[in-house]
This record gives sequence, structure tokens and C-alpha cells, in this order.
Amino acid sequence: MSVKVSCDRCGPLELGEWEIAVVWCGPDGEGYSFVCPGCDAIVHRAAPPRVLRLLSLVGARETVARITEDEISFFADSFDDEAVWAELA
Ligand SMILES: [Zn+2]
Repeated sequence: MSVKVSCDRCGPLELGEWEIAVVWCGPDGEGYSFVCPGCDAIVHRAAPPRVLRLLSLVGARETVARITEDEISFFADSFDDEAVWAELA
């Protein structure tokens, strides 16, 4: 399915849900963001929680903060890695 969004420079756009990132708690508040295919700008739009839930239901990526999946898994792996703790000691 496609999601109707708009860019300040390019006007109305239709993006795939996978191109939308839902932001629950970002520096600009909750909303969603996407990279405009027309001008490469990162566009952030404020949106109420019900809209964000809908976006995540249809398959938009969810981001809680500026932490990537890789960083989370690295962090989780580090808990089991004694060498990491040894460095801290
Ligand atoms: Zn644009």
C-alpha cells in the first residue's frame, strides 16, 4: 500500500510504507519521517499516536530514538562478553 505524504519543496507524494519511519520519541517530538525521493530532504511531520499506530500496523519502521538495530544487538551481545567487562574493570 502507499502512504500519502508531502514535502515542503516537492508537494504531495506517495511512498511505500517501508519508506516511512515512525518516530515515537525523537528530537522533534512524535511523528513520522521519510526521505523525500524528489529532493533527498529528510522530512519530519508531527502526527498523533493513532496515526503512528496505523503506520506501524501497515509496516512502517518504528524508531524510538536515534539508536539502530545494530547498536541494540551490539549492546545486548556485550552483556555476555566478558572481555568487554574486563576492559571496564
Ligand atoms: Zn522534496
